[in-house]
Amino acid sequence: MKRLIILGCLLFSQFSFAQEYSAREVERPKLVVGIVVDQMRQEYFYRFHDRYVEGGLKRLMHDGFMMQNGHYNYIPTYTGPGHASVYTGTTPATHGIIGNNWYIRATDTDVYCAEDSLVTAVGGSEGNGKISPKNLLSSTITDELRFATGKRSKVVGVAIKDRGAALPAGHLGDAYWYDSKTGGFMTSSYYHEELPSWVEEFNNKKLVSKYLDQTWETLFPIETYIQGAADDNEFESPFKGKDRPTFPYDLKKLQKDNGGLGMISSIPFGNTFTVEMALAAIEGEQLGKRGETDFLAVSFSSPDYIGHRFGPQAIEVEDNYLRLDRDLARFFDYLDREIGKGEYLVFLTADHGVADVVNYMKSERMVTSGSLDSKTMLTELDAFVGQKYGSGDWISSFSNQQIFLNRELVSEKDLSLVEMQRAVADFLLRFDGVKETYIADDLRRYEYTTGFKHLLQMGYNHKSSGDVMVIMEPAWLANASKGTTHGTGYTYDTNVPIVFYGWGVKPGSSSRYATVTDIAPTLSMMLKTRLPNGATGQPIGEIVDAK
Ligand code: ZN
Ligand code: ZN
Repeated sequence: MKRLIILGCLLFSQFSFAQEYSAREVERPKLVVGIVVDQMRQEYFYRFHDRYVEGGLKRLMHDGFMMQNGHYNYIPTYTGPGHASVYTGTTPATHGIIGNNWYIRATDTDVYCAEDSLVTAVGGSEGNGKISPKNLLSSTITDELRFATGKRSKVVGVAIKDRGAALPAGHLGDAYWYDSKTGGFMTSSYYHEELPSWVEEFNNKKLVSKYLDQTWETLFPIETYIQGAADDNEFESPFKGKDRPTFPYDLKKLQKDNGGLGMISSIPFGNTFTVEMALAAIEGEQLGKRGETDFLAVSFSSPDYIGHRFGPQAIEVEDNYLRLDRDLARFFDYLDREIGKGEYLVFLTADHGVADVVNYMKSERMVTSGSLDSKTMLTELDAFVGQKYGSGDWISSFSNQQIFLNRELVSEKDLSLVEMQRAVADFLLRFDGVKETYIADDLRRYEYTTGFKHLLQMGYNHKSSGDVMVIMEPAWLANASKGTTHGTGYTYDTNVPIVFYGWGVKPGSSSRYATVTDIAPTLSMMLKTRLPNGATGQPIGEIVDAK
């Protein structure tokens, strides 16, 4: 009896707390779901639209608010900087993630954006576990949500790529990424001492082996894929162990030569697998069900691997998006059921777009597309600098389209760094495919508000960026062969989806220019948190102010 009374009191006190909570004037959704698609152009919403289902991408398009002219506002457009910019509401100039990898002058080595040598693997293989957000120099919207709720809000980041999970989860959240050796999700000692039991249970299902037991065939008859190039062509890069880049893909057979369990990242089932992990996280952490606003940050890594290998004209890419759409529909249906329609807030964006395959462009009479031979360029640059300043190891690195000069040697020889920057910038202009070059000294000295100068400046970090920045001509890639990449400030790389859906969002769309750095400030206004501490973006008024 006594026990019952105590239980009754407990229930009552919980009930009154819940009442107090619902009576609060600061209203928030139960759950925020941030979705980043790794390598998605805005145009994929339209080109593949007719075969999307009602409940997936079309639901966002028709029932959400879409900024159709959303862009990255800096160079370079890569995965690490992209995820960091979405969640911090600022650009590499401030958040410090200036590439996926970049050169560190002080140590003459490269650093990886999510690398942390002081932490260790938890629940996965050692080599994949040295991961934390320590290189991220500003707070994220996920950090700020936790601060806004006395850290009662939970934040979970999930992605196959470690940087796609760790940067969005911020400094205060949990992050889980894929371990290609074990086939499961892992974390690092930055986050946990051991894997939570729900992650272990998820891993024990060994889902990846099941996916890799299948054959990847097109969802519809292959002759109905008419939005790009034919399946068999010379522009796409076949999987190892297969001569042609053509359907069907017998994964059981191909996995051995294509990374074993790691092959899941390169096929659409990687998205299905990521959704499964997201659902397990909601279930395992009871996200959105605890009387405090939680944040689930999901990044779909597979579209990027598929996109690099085949290019945006490929049937493989179209099929990936048709399948991702169905995975998202399943995800949203689950959220409707478990959290409640209108009770959760979703945004979807991408970390960058992608360029067309150079040889495909040429074959379509887009003959101005081309390939910059960076090896020859650097060899000739070396010779030029050697002739002008005497022999020496003058060029320390060429990464992310930036030349890093050997500043130590420059000062040792008592030369002017600015003069050398300018000489190198002028020299590089002679190469085909090089459109513009800028020097660090100018980016530090002046404020640029338009054009590539502006985009470079937003990506330029005074402490860590290079000395001379190279802008290629449109539709050019460095060392292009089969497949493609991204990284420029051209619209094919910058124009990505920015769409909000669900709690507090009125349907609509706008063609006003907006940037991905506006996403976090928009969330700050909607969730009533502080702005992330480095935020430079602005809230999207069309979304925040709609009543
Ligand atoms: Zn990416
Ligand atoms: Zn990529």
